[in-house]
Amino acid sequence: MSAIPFDNSYARLPERFFARVDPTPVPAPRLIALNRGLAETLGIDPDWLAGPEGVAALAGNAVPPGAEPIATAYAGHQFGHLVPQLGDGRAILLGEVVDRDGTRRDVQLKGAGPTPFSRRGDGRAALGPVLREYIVSEAMAALGIPTTRALAAVATGASVVRERLLPGAILTRIARSHIRVGTFQYFAIRRDTEGVKQLADHVIARHYPAAAESGQPYRALLAAVIDRQAALVAQWLCVGFIHGVMNTDNMAVAGETIDYGPCAFLDAYDPATVFSAIDEAGRYAYGNQPAIAQWNLARLAEALLPLLAPETEAAIAVAQDLLADFVPRFEAAYHGGLRRKLGLATAREDDVALAGGLLEIMRANRADFTLTFRRLGAAAADPAADRGVRNLFIDPTAYDAWAGRWRERLAAEPRPAGELRAAMDAANPAVIPRNHRIEAVIAAAVERDDFGPFAELTTVLAKPFEDQAAFAAYADAPEESERVHRTFC
Ligand code: AMP
Ligand code: MG
Ligand code: MG
Repeated sequence: MSAIPFDNSYARLPERFFARVDPTPVPAPRLIALNRGLAETLGIDPDWLAGPEGVAALAGNAVPPGAEPIATAYAGHQFGHLVPQLGDGRAILLGEVVDRDGTRRDVQLKGAGPTPFSRRGDGRAALGPVLREYIVSEAMAALGIPTTRALAAVATGASVVRERLLPGAILTRIARSHIRVGTFQYFAIRRDTEGVKQLADHVIARHYPAAAESGQPYRALLAAVIDRQAALVAQWLCVGFIHGVMNTDNMAVAGETIDYGPCAFLDAYDPATVFSAIDEAGRYAYGNQPAIAQWNLARLAEALLPLLAPETEAAIAVAQDLLADFVPRFEAAYHGGLRRKLGLATAREDDVALAGGLLEIMRANRADFTLTFRRLGAAAADPAADRGVRNLFIDPTAYDAWAGRWRERLAAEPRPAGELRAAMDAANPAVIPRNHRIEAVIAAAVERDDFGPFAELTTVLAKPFEDQAAFAAYADAPEESERVHRTFC
């Protein structure tokens, strides 16, 4: 058995789906992070990965046995504009492994050198963004949100030219697949209906086997992708996550969060929040994410039209019908999430207004999103703990008025205080990857070659729902001087 038990299905698809390309070796690979637990679930020995052969594989300096390196073809709408050819310009898929749960997972090197899709890019990644993706994707996994994972990060020993010279790195990314809405668009734009069909069949077999059992597999596929994306975006909103670049090439059809670029978490709650320096118009603002997800899914539906019905008009009607389900699916998931955040075990009609009332005063009072909800757990169990919440509001009496309504509602479903607190703590994380913390970790690594802060932050974020007394400061909101206003990819 080889060290990485590859079983590559995408490389068996037609040659026009990808380009075969090996990673480009780097001068001085050094392992800076290894996700041992993830390696084990993938059936890969972490000690092998940490050894010379493993590091050579993670750096792209050696192609491990069984790998069939490819760069995949895709298109995509970037900020609303169609780009007919994007593709993996700096990522190389080594192959797939079937993990311990029987789930097939891609093993991809991000930043492994140029590919035929690189256009003017260098095919490389800088250390800072590699660490950000490692931290945030692993934090999302710990929060229970579907996401690609980070298996390892390797420093290359070479510099990359960005606005200045920066140390280079490679991330090993694990995903249920890297197939995007833009992958379907790539074939649809070329009027390659056979390609769309082959891709759809691959995605059904791999991610949505139940669709194959239905009388209309392609309609079932679209419905299932809509479902998963609706649930995913609802989960994002419930933890204050802003993806930052929801282009159609950054939306995975398997329903995982993918492509952590200028992503960030809310500090103070405001649905208009944008961090990404490249999102000048605020297209991908926190509160726009559900509408953008639906827009992206409409692009997926367009690509699938020839498979939905023989005649275009009938296919459009089918697509519209399925797309109309997005809003109710999203609302069901989002409202359910808000109820859990408020400690409500049952559903009542005015719960949404109750949650909306809190969010509105949080916005008006610049209350910290994560701290407000986390501290509500203590307040639910003991009104004396209200002080911790109301202090987060510019005008604390706004909270008092709302808390009265909330307590009345809680009283309608009496639960032991300890149980209520535990349920709320399991829905409201104590720690999230705060932007100022990530920036500090990146600065230590890039400027001082110090990876201690990175290791500590990833350790803390692995248990987001626990109050970790030894690391209490990680829960804090940034001081005004620490606040990060812009993020870059
Ligand atoms: P992203 O903004 O990361 O979603 O990337 C958009 C497109 O640009 C994808 O096709 C990437 O492969 C490509 N790309 C991003 N950075 C680079 C780079 N440094 N070299 C080559 N291609 C890149
Ligand atoms: Mg090819
Ligand atoms: Mg991308």
